[in-house]
Amino acid sequence: MKARIAALLMLAGGLPGLAGPVFSTWRLEPGGLVSERPDDPLPVGSLQKPFVAKAWALAHPGEPSPRFHCGPGGCWFPAGHGDLGLVRATTVSCNTYYLRLAEQTPLAGLAGALAEEGFTSAPLDPGDAIGLGGALAIRPSALLAAYVRLTRTPWPAGEPVRREVLAGLREAALTGTARGLGHRGFWAKTGTVPLDALHTTGLALAVDDAGWAILGRLEPGTGREAAQALAAALDRYRPGAPRLAAAPPRAWPAGPPALVRVRLFELLGPRRFQVRNLGPDPVPCGGGFLGAGAAMELRPGGRAGPGLLEVTAPGTPLVRRIQGELTRPGEVVAMVPLREYVSGVLAGELPHGSPGLQVELGAAVLRFLARGPRHPDAEVCDSTHCAHFVGRGPLLDWKQGTQTPAPVLADAAWTAIQAAARQPGPEHWTAHCGGRPLSARFVWGEGDDQARPCLRHGPAPPWTRTWRAADLARAFGGPVRNLAVTTDGGVWGLRVWAGAAPRTLRFDLAHRLIAGVLGWDALPSPADSVTAVPGGFRVQGVGAGHRVGLCLGD
Ligand SMILES: [Zn+2]
Ligand SMILES: [Zn+2]
Ligand SMILES: [Zn+2]
Repeated sequence: MKARIAALLMLAGGLPGLAGPVFSTWRLEPGGLVSERPDDPLPVGSLQKPFVAKAWALAHPGEPSPRFHCGPGGCWFPAGHGDLGLVRATTVSCNTYYLRLAEQTPLAGLAGALAEEGFTSAPLDPGDAIGLGGALAIRPSALLAAYVRLTRTPWPAGEPVRREVLAGLREAALTGTARGLGHRGFWAKTGTVPLDALHTTGLALAVDDAGWAILGRLEPGTGREAAQALAAALDRYRPGAPRLAAAPPRAWPAGPPALVRVRLFELLGPRRFQVRNLGPDPVPCGGGFLGAGAAMELRPGGRAGPGLLEVTAPGTPLVRRIQGELTRPGEVVAMVPLREYVSGVLAGELPHGSPGLQVELGAAVLRFLARGPRHPDAEVCDSTHCAHFVGRGPLLDWKQGTQTPAPVLADAAWTAIQAAARQPGPEHWTAHCGGRPLSARFVWGEGDDQARPCLRHGPAPPWTRTWRAADLARAFGGPVRNLAVTTDGGVWGLRVWAGAAPRTLRFDLAHRLIAGVLGWDALPSPADSVTAVPGGFRVQGVGAGHRVGLCLGD
């Protein structure tokens, strides 16, 4: 059966009768509905969810919204969204959360709330109520009006609940399922409903402060893709709406994000990528599906998953497996649940297990993430600039020539890590302090000027490296006349005399430029000294990594 589906999917590459996705819109303008298609009832999937929250609020007057746990396997996001409240559940459109909400609401209450908004059929069970299976339908005009009411009319039984739904819809448009919208100033929600055995229809709805609203439908497609398609419609019909710069840096006031975007292969920068579906079932990709075991090229603008995926760069030994989604806004970006991210960092940073450090390091990773994104299009990269992330592996042992899958974080460890992260502690970690830990301020020019003491390491023997002049010329874009380590203003720098004027590089940049040519280990840590030798320069220092924070050295 699996083989048959895979074969069908391969045949479906150019599905007869489906000549590319069709995008249609319905708009609620001051004069009424303007649309390219009839105002006939449609199934709208997760676009029903806000009204499930309304039914719950009616059944629980005055109660605060609950928190639930979304575990692996129960949600559209296979790894689960973890612990979450109503705002986050709305942002990421968590099925598990909304299903629990619907289960805690009398069926008559769900039926009544949805009928009041204009849904044509009474819900049969909680799954129908949250839009699974496409049992209910609504006219686009009624749906748009319902969303405008949602943004304007208080809920007497639970106004705080409505405000949380609205906060979730705002965030959905910025970082959640509707982020493809790419504009500020909208509440937005997406939905994905089955089209046929192999395809889905995507929907995205956006409302602004003026009560203007638009519904977009992409057939075939996903809700996320419909939101991307809606971005151009907003430019056309709402020319005043500010375009978001490609995912601007934002801080999370409430802690680390539920989904972590990771730039993959950050240091190596290959240009071609192949994705293989390692899971037992087809996963979404672009407008269609990638069958179990099937592979495709991940082109700029492409995406695949969520699922268990393997990404490789043809012609290179690079391989990474992740449980999550792969996108390619420019670089390849994996989008993985928070727990998957922490698990993949622990596997990368503690390859030998070091159970004694697991919880402390996991907590440091969460504190680090809570500081906000480090890249314009992603929270983190997979290099030590952010954290060494190996996803689900494979872990390569160069000495033994073996590959093993990365261990997945156990429930108990994850619980302990989340608890530890709420306590104060380091938000950085390093491979080895070299017996002389450094402060954040010394390495990055900002942050704590106290080094965190390491109780395990005394004075360590120094490392030395020799950099050849020809390699340095490639790393710095021209012949290097001189190099020096500086500590001006109490901040480490590598002063480089190349080109017209000398410049001083902080550790991260110096490391990246040098690693790009001379390899990963050419500048193991902020060096103590650099001296000219025949044919190049000799560098000396102690430890490994930036030497700030939790020391992971053996
Ligand atoms: Zn979920
Ligand atoms: Zn980074
Ligand atoms: Zn140490």
